[in-house]
Formats: sequence, C-alpha cells, structure tokens
Amino acid sequence: MPKIHHVIVGASIAGVSAAAAMRENGFDGTITLVDAQRLLPYERPALSKVADPEKAVRPIFPDGYYAEHDIDLALGARVRRLDDDRHRVVLDSGADLPADRVLLTTGASCRRLGVPGEGLANVHTLRTADDARHVFASLERGGPLVVVGGGFIGLEAAAVARTMGAEVTVVEAGELPLHGPLGPSVARLMTRLHQEHGVRVVTHQSVRRFLGSQAVQEVVFTGGRRLPAATVIVGIGVVANDQVAREAGATCRDGVVVDGHGRTDHPWLWSAGDVASQIHPGVGTRGRIEHWDVAMRHGAAVGASMAGRPTVNTAVPYFWTDQYGKSLQMFGRARPQDRVVLREQATPERFLAFWLREDRVVAVAGLDEAKAVRAARALVDSGAPVSAEVLADPSTDLRALSRGLAQRALSSSA
Ligand SMILES: Cc1cc2nc3c(=O)[nH]c(=O)nc-3n(C[C@H](O)[C@H](O)[C@H](O)COP(=O)(O)OP(=O)(O)OC[C@H]3O[C@@H](n4cnc5c(N)ncnc54)[C@H](O)[C@@H]3O)c2cc1C
Repeated sequence: MPKIHHVIVGASIAGVSAAAAMRENGFDGTITLVDAQRLLPYERPALSKVADPEKAVRPIFPDGYYAEHDIDLALGARVRRLDDDRHRVVLDSGADLPADRVLLTTGASCRRLGVPGEGLANVHTLRTADDARHVFASLERGGPLVVVGGGFIGLEAAAVARTMGAEVTVVEAGELPLHGPLGPSVARLMTRLHQEHGVRVVTHQSVRRFLGSQAVQEVVFTGGRRLPAATVIVGIGVVANDQVAREAGATCRDGVVVDGHGRTDHPWLWSAGDVASQIHPGVGTRGRIEHWDVAMRHGAAVGASMAGRPTVNTAVPYFWTDQYGKSLQMFGRARPQDRVVLREQATPERFLAFWLREDRVVAVAGLDEAKAVRAARALVDSGAPVSAEVLADPSTDLRALSRGLAQRALSSSA
C-alpha cells in the first residue's frame, strides 16, 4: 500500500507546527513541507526587534529535527496550483508532487501603497529575513527613517532605529498609531512612549509619492507636505496569500475559509495560520488573526486533525510586541465598541488595560506588566462579571480576584 502523502505549503510557524503535530499524533504517512524561501524555517517576530539580521533569523527547529521526524523539506519551491484531476501539487518550476491532502499555511504578504516611487531603493516592507537584511543594512547607512503606518511591526522597527541613532518619523493615516487594535487611550500611551524616545509622530497624513533618483530621498504627502527620507518602511498591514486556494475553487473571503478543524470546502484542502479565516472559539466571529502564538496553535490543532485526532485550538488569542526594551502583552481580542478601563497610575512606561464587553473582561494588555497580565488572563478565560472600578484600582490583587471568581463560578454550577 502506498503511504498517504500530506503536502504542507508554507514552512513557517503554522506549517511547521502542523507537521510536528501530525507526527506527534501518530501520522505515519509521508509529510512534505514546501516553501518558496530557501532558508531553514525560521521565526519572524525577531526580524523587527533586533538590529542584527543574523541574530534575528532564528530557526523554528534545528536542522536535524526534520530528518529525525521523517519530514521532507522542499525549500525554494513555490506552489502555483493544485491539479484536482491528478491529485498533485504543481510548482512554479513545472514539477509536481503527489498529494492526498494539502495543508495551505502560506501566511500573508505586505500590503503595498501603490503610489509612484514605491519601487525606489530603500523603500522597504518587513516580512521576511531578506526584508530585514535590507532594512537594517539601509539603516546602518544612517537616517532619516520614515515609517509609513503606525502598526506593531513598523513601531518595533522605529524603536530599533532610534537605538541605532536614526532620526525617525512615524506617519499614520488615522487618528493615532495602534488606534485600531488598542483603542484611543492605550494608543495614546504607546504613542507617548515613542515620542519620549525621540520619534516624531505625524497623524492624518497619507503618502502621495516617493521621490529620489535611484534611492528614496523624500516622502510627499497628499496635502503637499514633504519629509526627507533615506529609508522608508511601509507597514500598512498584510494581505492573505490565498491565491492557490482561490484558484482551486475553495471559498475565500479575506483568507481561506475553514471550519473548526481547518477544513476548507475543497475536498482535499486544509488551511491554518495567518492565511486562514476561522471562527476562533475565544473570539466568536470569523476572521484572520495575525499572531505568532495563534498561528502556532492553529497549525498544531489542524495538523492533529489531519492526523485523525480532531482538535480545536481554544486558547485565548495572545500576542506580544517589544519596544524600547519593554514588552506589551495582550490576551483576548478587543473590538472598537468595547469599554477600555485603564488601571490608575498608567504611564507610557508601564500600564495595564482591560477591555470590557458588558461587564465581562474580553481582553487584557499590559506594558511591562507580565505578571499582572498573566493573572488577568484568568478573568478573560472565566468570562465572569467584574466591575470597572475593581479593575481600575491598583490595589486589586488580580490573582486573588481571578481565583475568587473561578470558585464562585464552580459553586454556582454545582
Ligand atoms: C517582522 C514581524 C514581526 C512579528 N512580530 C510578532 C510579535 O511580536 N508577536 C506576534 O504575536 N506576532 C508577530 N508577528 C506575526 C507572526 O510572525 C505571524 O502571525 C506568523 O508568522 C504567521 O505564521 P504563518 O505560518 O501562518 O505564515 P507566515 O509566517 O507568513 O509564513 C508563510 C510561509 O508560506 C510561504 N509561502 C507563501 N506562498 C507560498 C507558495 N505559493 N508556495 C510555497 N510557499 C509559500 C512563505 O514563503 C512563508 O514562509 C510578526 C510578523 C512579522 C513579519
């Protein structure tokens, strides 16, 4: 009997975690991990946090792991399409691979501005190890740096550039950097943190074009304002790499639509990680979640499901970001209409924030508050009602509060 063949397209954290979970859950068929990049699968988060790209590129598993677990790596191979008639995965080179089931973990690519001059040298995006090499080589030659878009990755790069001594401007089209994911009060604190470190923050400005002869020299905004720039990072979000699924006829709506186990509506296609649009049990609405921890857990759950052990990732979404030696951690997903409660005595260097929906904590975030965030996570998990006054009070012992609520929930269900 020929062995069942699982082909995983995209060898980043979701794909690699899926492969590992397949083996851990007893799948003894063939596993091939395919990736367009040639590097041993690596973690992306350090790419925007560490100035030295050699130190920033950290393998997910050491080289030997794949052979030890009988996982074939096909690196430097881009998948173009699925051949339904022949049950094969067709590569850009024209070669193909037999496949019984395909898992698409192709992640996302940086969104482009689509303005004149975007192709000039030193106008970068930041998603891959190569991107990080180019960004930091360009910063080594000196500033000024203009970061277009006040999202997490752009702000991390801004913080690193400041430690390298570059003059940095962050340009945000909306109200404030991070306004979308964190809301105004927390976004204001994070913006002040950057301003205190010498970053110029310009809001309500959109880029019209970049000017320069070969390399970028100026950023021109729609209102006519101009800024000098030796390096530009365009950090305006990502788009899902769902082309292979779309062409195969699987339903895609801002990502590949999957059920709780990562199955698409195509008969031999699964999907996980940043590219997949899922109804996360901890969130309740469909969408893509672009967090490393979620991609890892989702990949592992879908890998286990494909190995015959149906598994759903129920962990509350978690992400972190590191800026100026401080770590912002967040559990849960906030919506713009949620009520934000800041703990009293919040400063740009240290704060704790809760997002309340009715009287339940749906998310918690803290800067340099790792212990409190961990303790408050139980509040998100329990879904028990808590008053805003108690949360805002810095003397509240969050661990004791979480324990008390959990006990109350237990005794009321008994
Ligand atoms: C610079 C940076 C910093 C980040 N920092 C944080 C952080 O601090 N905290 C956090 O929670 N999250 C962070 N993230 C987000 C996190 O890294 C992503 O959520 C995670 O990498 C998603 O993993 P993935 O496996 O789904 O997809 P990806 O990591 O996007 O990988 C997809 C892979 O698929 C390959 N691929 C795509 N199309 C094809 C094809 N047709 N054929 C073959 N291969 C293909 C790509 O080459 C790529 O290797 C960061 C991301 C970046 C870019």
